[in-house]
This record gives sequence, structure tokens and C-alpha cells, in this order.
Amino acid sequence: MAGNTMTNNRLLNSRLITDEEIDKPRSNCGIIGVYGNPDASTLTYYGLHSLQHRGQEASGIVSCQRSNGNTPASRLRVFKAPGLVTEVFSDQDTLEKLLVGDVAIGHNRYSTTGSDNLENIQPFMVNYRDGQLAVAHNGNLTNTRSLRQKLEKEGTIFQTSTDTEVILHLTARSKAETPEDRIMDALNTVQGAYSLVMLHGETLIAARDPHGFRPLCIGRLGETWIIASETCALDIMQAEYVRDIEPGEVLFFDHRMDMSGQPVQRRLHYEPEKYHHCIFEFIYFSRPDSKIFGENVDKIRRRLGKALAEEAPVQARDDEPVFVMAVPDSSNTAAVGFVRRAGKDGSDTRLEIGLIRNHYIGRTFIQPGQEKREVKVRMKFNTVKGVIEGRNVVIIDDSIVRGTTSRLLINLIREANPAELHVRISSPPIIRPCPYGMDFPSREELIAQQHHEDVESICQEIGADSLAYLSIDKMLGTVDHDGKRGYCTGCFTGDYPVPIEENMRKEDLED
Ligand code: SF4
Repeated sequence: MAGNTMTNNRLLNSRLITDEEIDKPRSNCGIIGVYGNPDASTLTYYGLHSLQHRGQEASGIVSCQRSNGNTPASRLRVFKAPGLVTEVFSDQDTLEKLLVGDVAIGHNRYSTTGSDNLENIQPFMVNYRDGQLAVAHNGNLTNTRSLRQKLEKEGTIFQTSTDTEVILHLTARSKAETPEDRIMDALNTVQGAYSLVMLHGETLIAARDPHGFRPLCIGRLGETWIIASETCALDIMQAEYVRDIEPGEVLFFDHRMDMSGQPVQRRLHYEPEKYHHCIFEFIYFSRPDSKIFGENVDKIRRRLGKALAEEAPVQARDDEPVFVMAVPDSSNTAAVGFVRRAGKDGSDTRLEIGLIRNHYIGRTFIQPGQEKREVKVRMKFNTVKGVIEGRNVVIIDDSIVRGTTSRLLINLIREANPAELHVRISSPPIIRPCPYGMDFPSREELIAQQHHEDVESICQEIGADSLAYLSIDKMLGTVDHDGKRGYCTGCFTGDYPVPIEENMRKEDLED
């Protein structure tokens, strides 16, 4: 990669308890774009901070000062390093003196492989015949392997092992006439899931794949345009939400806006009959204070909790109250919905805080006994024993992946002596990995696969008195449909809306 990339090797050895280690899927990435603000990189920094949940391994920003009268646009400036946003940009001079300019893009990263591989940290940047090009990507392309092979045969040298770099090479090698057409050409060639922000010199480009797998929205802050993975990033900048970028829409923010005030809109060639938004963004991944796919995440999560209470209520023993507790924080909202609906029939169902999550784990250089998952779970969670002892307890969780953490968590809760311990999951059993940018373990590691989707058997494995998942129909029924809108349910059904190339192991995906 070209550019004045700076890295912070001090962070390379750091460790944190990842979502993977507490048995949740990981998404790879959150993205931000800012156009037309003298503090573009500072706004991008704040946006990335709000999107920290979408990627905690590395962060980066690329900025540019647009041309002004006789002054040409500056060259792109880049700073990226492993670590949390506040760690990477801990020196104020990085934002104020290095990343100067009024246009910027930023990226938070989770990797699927090689977290300490500095070359894979985004945004990526290249010099080519049209100037400089930088890209930040959320999602996962599905035809990378064949495109990469073809490009390599033609002499392309890849600098990274990521799918995103393919977009840069396709743009550089396109025979279309203008730089804009070359970018469209590249985007019309790749398949799979991509929400993108790019800088082509001083032009900001925002694009979303035709299926709309990952969210991407537009905001305004006065004259400034903001692009963000989730609306929570607009809130921190006090920007106003304008709309979602439509699936298949590509927007160019450049000098042409001086006349129209609006970005130039182009559309990708392929138009699916229905969109395929990732339903897992609602279940677990996006923040509850965000609006994605035209819906408030909080509202949908409450509905999932209500639907779960309708489908899998817990009967009170001897008319004693039922104490409902969330696995914090991602299941808090679903637990509220569960209690609201469960209490409607007059039964004594109460929301209680019986599990406490330690938010101060952060990165450490030494984690004694870090190989032991049990230690990790105890570092992350503890019980409020007075709340649990002798009670009928219902634990609400959003998903079970491997089941290892569920088992340890249930052991932990049992130590507090509940009378009964029931588990309710606000999504269906996960039976397949995700090829579109969510990092699940392999198929054989998924607990639902290991137990052939036998819920009773899974219940015994995790040690609960009862276990129920939300059904697929009920899950889909909680999300409004407007004809065109649709949802990907691949990890719950094996029904993948975009064909998969061999960027995933075949045995993970096929029956
Ligand atoms: S397979 Fe699952 S996680 Fe992946 S995009 Fe589809 S619904 Fe989302």
C-alpha cells in the first residue's frame, strides 16, 4: 500500500476478550465518510468511536483537502494501526496535524484471519493512473477467489489477503473511459456483501451492494455530508439522519454538487427481486440506538422478545413470580419485550438484573490463564446472588453459537442457587456460517449442528431446565415487509441468496 501509513507496534501484542471468545459472531467492520467539513477527520474519529462494536482490532482514517481556487487537492493522508479507536488516535496531533482536510473516510476492523497483519488494516490506499484511491469496506465479497486468480494471471500483485483489495485492482484495470465509470465497472463485477466508502482524490464515493446486506446511511450536519454504517454514528456528531443509501445505489460527492447541492447518483446493473438485509444485524450486531434498514433496532429487538414470550412462555412454579434476566448487554432490549408480553396475561413476570457485565476488561498485555474459557466468562460476567437465590429464573440471550459460553454462564448462575433456570433465545438455532461478512465458527463447531437441531439435547448440553428458540417464521414476522424488502436468513436456514464461491469451506455450507 502506498501512503504515509503509520502503525503502533505497541498494540500488536495486546489482547482483549473478543466476542468470539464469549461465543458471539463477529462482524467485520464499521465505516464512516465525511464530505465538506474542515474537521473531517475529527468527525470521522467520533463516528468510528460510535461504531467500535463493529470492529475492535484495528482502525484507520484517510483524509484529503479539496481543491480551492488555484490550490489543487492535497494528496491523501492516511493513519491506521491495530487497536481500539481511542488507542489508535490517542495523539491529538494525528487528527489535527496529520489527517488535515475537509474530506475523510474511516474504518473499524475485525478480521477473520491474521489480526496482527498490518497490511490488512483499512482503509486501503493505492496510487494509479487516475491518481489516488482509498477504500473502506464492510461486508464480504463472494466471488473473490475467481477474480483474484484472474487478476493474478494478468500480472496483478496483491498486497493484502483481503477481498477488498480486489475492488481497487478492478478499478485500476478497467477499460471504461472515466474514473467514475471505472469504479462502476469494478462494483458491477464484484458480488456478495459490500457497504463501501471510497476516496478518489477529493471525491467521496458511497456504495451499497444490490442486496443491501449491510446497513449504510446518509446524514447532514449543516453543509457537511456524513456516511455511516449505523445512525448512532450520526448522533455523536449531532448530524441529522437523511435516509439509507439504497441497495445498488452509488453516490459521488464532488464539485458537481456546487450546482445541484446533491451527490451524483448512479445505480448498479443487477437488481434482485428482493433485498436481503442481514437479519442478524437486528438480532445482535447493530446498536439498539441505531436505525437500520428503515427500522429502529431497539423496536425490532423488543418485538423479538415479545414474539419469544408468545411462542415459548415460562410457566411459574406454584404461582411464584418469574424473574427474567438478560445476558447483558446485547439481550437487554429483547428481555424488556419478553417481560412486557409475558406479563400481559396477568402472570407475575418481573424484569431483574441478575447478571452483571464487567465493562472494564479492555486490552491487557497479560491475562493469566487466558487459555481457559471459564476464566474469560468469569472476567466478563458475575451474578447478583440475592436476586437469583430461590427464584424461578429465565435467562434471555440473543443467540447461541458454539454453546460453550452458555454452559459456563449457566454453571455460574447455578452457583447462586436458583429454584429453576430456563433459557430463551430471541433467534432460531444457527446452523450455518455466514459468507457475507459475519464471522461464525465452522459448521461443525455450531452447537445446533452438533445436536442435529435437537433443542432438548442442546438444553441438556448447556445444563438448563428448559430451552426454547424463536422460530424462523416468528422472527421474520417481527420485521415489517414492504414488498421489495427482504431478509437474509442464511445462517438459520442454509438458504444463501448470493451463490458462494470457495472463499468458504464447502463442507461448511452444503448439506
Ligand atoms: S448468513 Fe446470517 S449473519 Fe450472514 S448475512 Fe445472512 S442473516 Fe446475516
